[in-house]
Amino acid sequence: METTTLLNIPIERTRHSGLGGVDWNHLAFGQHNADHMLLSDYANGAWGNPQIVPFANFSLSPAALCLHYGQTIFEGMKAFRLPDGKINIFRPEKHYDRLTISAERLCMPVVSREVFIGGLSRLVDLDRQWVPATPGGALYLRPFIIATEARLGVKISDNYRFAVVSSPAGPLYPQPLRVKIERSFVRAARGGTGFAKCGGNYAAAFYPAKLAKEQGYDQVLWTDGKENNFIEESGTMNAFFVIDHVLVTPPLSDSILDGVTRDSLLALAARAGIPAEERPVSVDELQAAFRKGTITEAFGAGTAAVISPIRTIGIDGVDYDLPAYNDLGQEPAIRSGRNGQVPVHIRLRTTLDRIRYGLEPDPFGWNHIV
Ligand SMILES: *Cc1c(COP(=O)(O)O)cnc(C)c1O
Repeated sequence: METTTLLNIPIERTRHSGLGGVDWNHLAFGQHNADHMLLSDYANGAWGNPQIVPFANFSLSPAALCLHYGQTIFEGMKAFRLPDGKINIFRPEKHYDRLTISAERLCMPVVSREVFIGGLSRLVDLDRQWVPATPGGALYLRPFIIATEARLGVKISDNYRFAVVSSPAGPLYPQPLRVKIERSFVRAARGGTGFAKCGGNYAAAFYPAKLAKEQGYDQVLWTDGKENNFIEESGTMNAFFVIDHVLVTPPLSDSILDGVTRDSLLALAARAGIPAEERPVSVDELQAAFRKGTITEAFGAGTAAVISPIRTIGIDGVDYDLPAYNDLGQEPAIRSGRNGQVPVHIRLRTTLDRIRYGLEPDPFGWNHIV
């Protein structure tokens, strides 16, 4: 656990807080924005002084490069309210590292680590009343950088805006998903931008997901861009399986996003003595595992929903069902799976939540306290 230094920067406070309009017991994801945002603009080769201002629309030239050529990157992270009222920002260092990796791929400059973490901490401190006190709630933080130079020609922008906005989120206990293994479309190809959190990756994923929905699925399980045979990700989450009692996830590559949740779950599994492997998972292996009954769990992992259990996987027109686990993480009503054992995804999620909400020690130094 680290206590974060707050960056000393100019703050313009809102005169119209939106706090009064929030129904804390019925929060839809992304419905409200907290009162303030952090801004810094890049021009003449340098970032200007960061500042915090009331949440408001940007003014942008219609010719701004981000609007035409997709030079945008973002992060998604969360802050949690601890029992003593302090706020915990989860793993901002790892999110900063990833932002720099995305920035390099998109030829964008990135603010200093000090501005990112210190500024974020100052923003969370100012908007701390926006961090839900409801069980399972969190403040979702969205740092992003966009190309702002006004120029219709295709080029690397000379001007950028870094901003952080935030949105309170209620507990998310996602319904188990029906997913389809995507064999035609690809999310990311070797040499592409799959490892970067850049806007274009998401727009390009809408159409296959829309087709999957029309076929009665909630999402697609992406396969590799070369053979369409190895699992890559589950929608916009990292994919995990439990096969023969081993937690399995595809290895990182340039077509897989290095998820902070993925990394955290692997660390927790190692500590709990749950066998885990980062290795390629082929569609054939999944099919065989369903036939033999050795696959017991499948789920997506990411910051927004934490863990999204999968109940059905569609492989080339045939649906394969997984054992039903209900009440994900909703203690004390955790239902056990086969052999009376608590499913791996529920064990991992429970531990992750307990660390983030300060209910058990944080041996990894993940929590940044504001
Ligand atoms: C953000 C994201 C994830 C999950 O990353 P987290 O850091 O765990 O939130 C996984 N896959 C894709 C494609 C993503 O954009």
